[in-house]
Amino acid sequence: MTNTIVVVGAGVSGLTSALLLSKNKANTVTVVAKHMPGDYDIEYASPFAGANIVPMATKENARWESRTWPVFKRLTEEVPEAGIHFQKCHIQRRDDDLRNTANATFPDSTFDPNPWYKDLFDDFREHEPSELTPGYDSGCQYTAVCINTAIYLPWLLGQCLKSGVVVKRAILTDIRDAKQLSHTGNAANIIVNATGLGSLKLGGVLDTTMAPARGQVVLVRNESTPMLICSGTPDGRGEETYLMQRAAGGGTILGGTYDIGNWESQPDPNIATRIMQRVVAARPDIAGGKGVAGLSVVRHAVGLRPWRKAGLRLEEERLDDETWIVHNYGHSGWGYQGSYGCAEGVVELVDKVTNGAKLTGRSPSF
Ligand code: FAD
Repeated sequence: MTNTIVVVGAGVSGLTSALLLSKNKANTVTVVAKHMPGDYDIEYASPFAGANIVPMATKENARWESRTWPVFKRLTEEVPEAGIHFQKCHIQRRDDDLRNTANATFPDSTFDPNPWYKDLFDDFREHEPSELTPGYDSGCQYTAVCINTAIYLPWLLGQCLKSGVVVKRAILTDIRDAKQLSHTGNAANIIVNATGLGSLKLGGVLDTTMAPARGQVVLVRNESTPMLICSGTPDGRGEETYLMQRAAGGGTILGGTYDIGNWESQPDPNIATRIMQRVVAARPDIAGGKGVAGLSVVRHAVGLRPWRKAGLRLEEERLDDETWIVHNYGHSGWGYQGSYGCAEGVVELVDKVTNGAKLTGRSPSF
């Protein structure tokens, strides 16, 4: 049996799903999307990510991030043109933030003093008091990666093309329309929904539990390592302090915010000032000790993370007698660091629904 597959969405979730699906030559894969690598648009989260690897799942849901890390590690070691480099990552915790999680923006599991992910990284260790960022009570470090998304997304698209995927622009009003969009001219029997926040308004999905988790960042030319992720800030809920230096001349991303329900697409200058002040206070060397004035700004930017109340939706849904939808959306702030694990999950679901159909000759119930 061959599968005619249409993946809707060309962010990191759609492209990674398409790539892994295309490795099975029984699958013919078309990607259709409103936005593509190279675009910067408020409806397209992927270009705005840092992006680094700061595990956010609970131990029970660790599969997606655990399965992704070895792939990024291998890409960093073996594929320099993917635009990823190794960087130490410092996680810094304030006791108050651990006690009062209502003020936290990152999930609790990221700042767990005994995190499940300590076994994921070879060199994880707790910090000595002398290593802590001023104002923080404890911390840890491990070697992670930082992905230059401006290089990585086009690279990922290129891998899809090399693997036979055909890519087209289209704006869908209903997920059912994807059935007629395969480049082969055949009706799709599998539709992968990787529309991120688009799933809120896309007909046939209309997932009203989706909302934006607004992320405002500043991209600067200044460089500073290691990466820094802090549990809270003096500026209250919705504001974060982090920095990550992108690979290959990508500058350094200063963050940020994580503001659920806020749709504002334009950078707020007051928030930008607070982000820069917090970063230079935590890491004066980034600006040569000159404070905010020592930062060389490339741009201010806003991206909307595809937040979902119950977390990721990775599941199959029957559309009609011939067609299944496999949903892969709702990754909020971890779309890169879970991308290969989730795409593997998509492949498994496609195998499950097609084998199920072949074995039973009727619709599997769910
Ligand atoms: P998107 O990238 O939003 O792609 C959605 C795709 O669907 C687009 O191609 C769009 O055009 C298409 N689409 C939607 N609706 C339709 C329609 N009706 N018709 C046709 N096409 C449609 N993640 C990490 O792992 N690490 C990080 O360090 C990190 N940092 C982040 C920092 C910021 C500031 C932000 C904003 C995000 C960050 N993230 C990070 C999160 C990450 O960027 C997202 O989880 C990820 O990009 C989501 O990818 P996606 O492919 O699901 O959605």
